[in-house]
Amino acid sequence: MSKNSRNKASKDAVKTLNPITKEFEFSGMPGALAISLGLPVLIVILNQMIRPDYYITGLFENFNIKEVLFGGEIKSLKDYLINSKETWVYYLFWFFGLAVLDVGLPGKTMNGVQLRDGTYLTYKINGVAISSFLIIVLAYRFQLTGGEMPELQYLYNNHLEICIVTILFSFFLSCIVYAMSFVPLLLYKRNGFNTKQKILALGGNSQNVIYDWFIGRELNPRVGPLDIKLFCELRPGMLLWLLINLAALHHVWVKTGTINNALLLINLLQGFYIFDGVLNEEGCLTMMDITTDGFGFMLAFGDLSLVPFTYCLQARYLSCNVIQLENWQLALITCVMILGYYIFHSSNQQKSDFRQGKLPHMKSIQTQRATKLLCDGWWAKSQHINYFGDWLISLSWCLTTWNTNALTYYYSLYFATLLLHRQQRDEHKCREKYGKSWEEYEKQVPYKIIPYIY
Ligand code: NDP
Repeated sequence: MSKNSRNKASKDAVKTLNPITKEFEFSGMPGALAISLGLPVLIVILNQMIRPDYYITGLFENFNIKEVLFGGEIKSLKDYLINSKETWVYYLFWFFGLAVLDVGLPGKTMNGVQLRDGTYLTYKINGVAISSFLIIVLAYRFQLTGGEMPELQYLYNNHLEICIVTILFSFFLSCIVYAMSFVPLLLYKRNGFNTKQKILALGGNSQNVIYDWFIGRELNPRVGPLDIKLFCELRPGMLLWLLINLAALHHVWVKTGTINNALLLINLLQGFYIFDGVLNEEGCLTMMDITTDGFGFMLAFGDLSLVPFTYCLQARYLSCNVIQLENWQLALITCVMILGYYIFHSSNQQKSDFRQGKLPHMKSIQTQRATKLLCDGWWAKSQHINYFGDWLISLSWCLTTWNTNALTYYYSLYFATLLLHRQQRDEHKCREKYGKSWEEYEKQVPYKIIPYIY
C-alpha cells in the first residue's frame, strides 16, 4: 500500500471511529454555557441558605437576600483562587492521595463494555480496599485526637470555601482533559483500528469548544493506569460527601455532647448508600456515564462538587437545627429507604443477572443486536423501575428533616429531574439502537418509571 492510500485509510478509520456530533443536548452551546455558569452559582446559594449562622426554615419564611448573597464567609473569586492556599493544599492532597490509593491498593481487574473499536478497557475494582483504608484512618485519628478530629472540624468550618475550591478544581480538570483529548495515544499504544486516535464520546465531538468541553470530548481519559472518569465518579466526591456528613455529626457531638437522632439517621442512610455504591463499583461499568458520556465539565463538576455539596444539605441542616424525631417517624423513613433500596438493588441485579445469561427462563424480546430486552419481573413493571427505587431513597433522606424545611427537599426534586432527563436520553439511545424491537418492548412495558403513573 502506498503512503497516500495508507494515510487515507487511516483518516477514514478516524472518521468512522469518531464521527462528528450532529445532535446536541441541553440546547447546544448556549445551554452548556448557561449550566456551566448557573449550576455552580446555585450550589453556592444552596449552601449559603444552610449554614450555622443562618438557615432557611419552613417555606422560606426567613429568606433574606443579603444573607444569601453576602452573608457568612463568602469572599471574592480572586480570594478563592489566590488566597485560599490551605484549602487548595488539603483538597489537592485529598484528590491526589485518593488517586494514588486507587492505583496502588489491590483489587480485581475487570473488563469494561466493548468499545467502538472492538477493544475493552480494564478497570481495577478496589472499592473495598479504599473504603477499609479510609475507615481505619478515621478510627485511628479519632483515637489519636481523643475524638477532637481537627480535620472534620476544618471541613465543617470551611464548608463554603472547600465547596468553591472543588468547583474551581472541576473547571481546571475539565480544561486539562479537554486538552488531553487532542493528544494522540502515547508510545506504542494503538486503538483497535490500528491508529493513534483516542476514542471520543459520540456526543462530545461537535467541534464547538465550549460544548465539547462541557459534555466531555474524550470517552475514557486516562493517566497511566488511572481512569479519571471512574475515579471521579466513585472516589473524591462520594467519599467527601461521607466526610461532610460525618463532620456535621461530629460538630453537634462536640458542641452539645449529644447526637440528635435525625442527624444520626441521615448519616446511617447515606453512609449505607455511599458504601453500597463504592462496594458495588462493577455495576458502574455498564452505566451510561461510563459507557457513553465523555468526561467534561458536566461529569467533573457533578462528581466532585454537586454530589458532595448538595447531597449533604440534609445533614448540614440537621447540624444547624437539631431535630429529634419520634420513633414512628424514624420507622417510616427507614421503611421508605428499605423499600427504595430493595427496588433499586434487586431490579439492577435482575438486569445484570439476565444480561449475564443467568435467568434464561424470564420473558424477553430478542433484538437485532444479538442482545435481549428483559420484559419480565421488575422489568415488566416499568422501563426504569430502578430509577423509581432510587428516587424513593432520595425521598427518605429528605424526610429526615420532616416538615421543618422545604429547602432540604431540593434533593428529591433535583433527582427527579435528573432521572427524567436520563430516562429520555436512554429512550432516545435505545430507539436508535434497537428500532422495531424497542417499539415492541414499549408495547409490552408501557410505563417509563412509575408503574401505572408515568
Ligand atoms: P439503566 O440501569 O436502566 O440502564 C439502561 C440501559 O440498560 C439501556 O441503555 C440498555 O442498554 C439496557 N436496558 C434497558 N432496558 C433493558 C431491558 N429491559 N433489558 C435489558 N437491558 C435493558 O440506567 P442507568 O445506567 O442510567 O442507571 C443505573 C443505575 O444508576 C440506576 O439504578 C440509577 O437510578 C442509578 N443512578 C444514580 C445516580 C445518582 O446520582 N445517585 C445518577 C444516575 C443513575 P443496552 O445498550 O446495553 O441494551
